[in-house]
Amino acid sequence: MRPSRATIDLDALRHNYRLARRLGGGRALAVVKADAYGHGAIACARALEADADGFGVACMEEALELREAGIEAPIVLLEGFFDADELDLVERHHLWTVVASPWQVDLLERHRARQPWQVWLKLDSGMHRLGLSPEEFVPAWQRLSALPWIERMVAMTHFSRADELSHPSTPGQMAVFESVLASLPPGTPASVANSAALMAWPATRREWVRPGLMLYGAHMLDAPCAAADELRAVMTLESKVIAVRDLAAGEPIGYAGTYTTTRPTRVGVVAAGYADGYPQYATSGTPVVIDGRPGELIGRVSMDMLTIDLTDHPEAGLGSRVELWGPNLPVAEVAARSGNSPYRLLAGLKRVPRRYA
Ligand SMILES: *Cc1c(COP(=O)(O)O)cnc(C)c1O
Repeated sequence: MRPSRATIDLDALRHNYRLARRLGGGRALAVVKADAYGHGAIACARALEADADGFGVACMEEALELREAGIEAPIVLLEGFFDADELDLVERHHLWTVVASPWQVDLLERHRARQPWQVWLKLDSGMHRLGLSPEEFVPAWQRLSALPWIERMVAMTHFSRADELSHPSTPGQMAVFESVLASLPPGTPASVANSAALMAWPATRREWVRPGLMLYGAHMLDAPCAAADELRAVMTLESKVIAVRDLAAGEPIGYAGTYTTTRPTRVGVVAAGYADGYPQYATSGTPVVIDGRPGELIGRVSMDMLTIDLTDHPEAGLGSRVELWGPNLPVAEVAARSGNSPYRLLAGLKRVPRRYA
């Protein structure tokens, strides 16, 4: 069998969730959208079920996958519902939904509910993607509060630059959020922080935090942060060396000859490529871990294979284990070598079998 695989450490996932909840000090919504950032939504939700206060998904399809797997915890639709047809499903499956646009408020006012609802009303505090403007927010809150079947509402917003630790954007968005919150009834529950804010901006912690990326042990904070040091990588993407060749200096390697040897070079071919989710444009010099020792990618990544420099690894050879990211090599570091993010690399995992440990 092809030796490529992704090992998912569910203990590390639980550790990271507990860290998130401890930092948040309230309840923590475990964000498992996009198949739990490539880690497998059902397996991750089951692993967290005993601990988690609830799960966050992007859409109905993802919520139903969890319900069909027997997950009974609260589930929040972070992108809300897309049309009136979904309202009955929200209700039947006891989902909580984000409401972020005036047209959704209109639909809810026309809905005949048979069950109590929980709605998370989203403010656009400056990201300018989803959310009601500060002017729209309070009227929408009042309209929804007037619906007797809406049992509980949470005020929420989302940050655009919480991973930039010296940028004024996060405190600025927080000030906008607080000023709107001040016009709502005292004690209104709020949810603001994603992973980066939760770890690096303690002033953003409210009743509910919404950790995603950090659950999987990754971050892209641009400065040191004690909480980030406590994360444990959940996914290890690894494969093996399936061929070795010795090249003279001056020989090109792989498609487009993007790398030419500068010395007699021993090249290892690894069974992992961009069809597995490894970034195609990772540059020569991107770190890998060869039998536990730091090494480097050389040459262009192919669909099914990539090449590494074994010249300084005389003990390595056919069958050597190559970690492409994992506990010994942060996925964010690999991502940065191709202008990618850890979000994209994790969520882009394909083809390789996942093993749970
Ligand atoms: C994806 C998402 C999160 C989680 O963000 P991370 O940066 O992965 O922690 C939180 N809130 C909302 C609304 C999201 O869409």
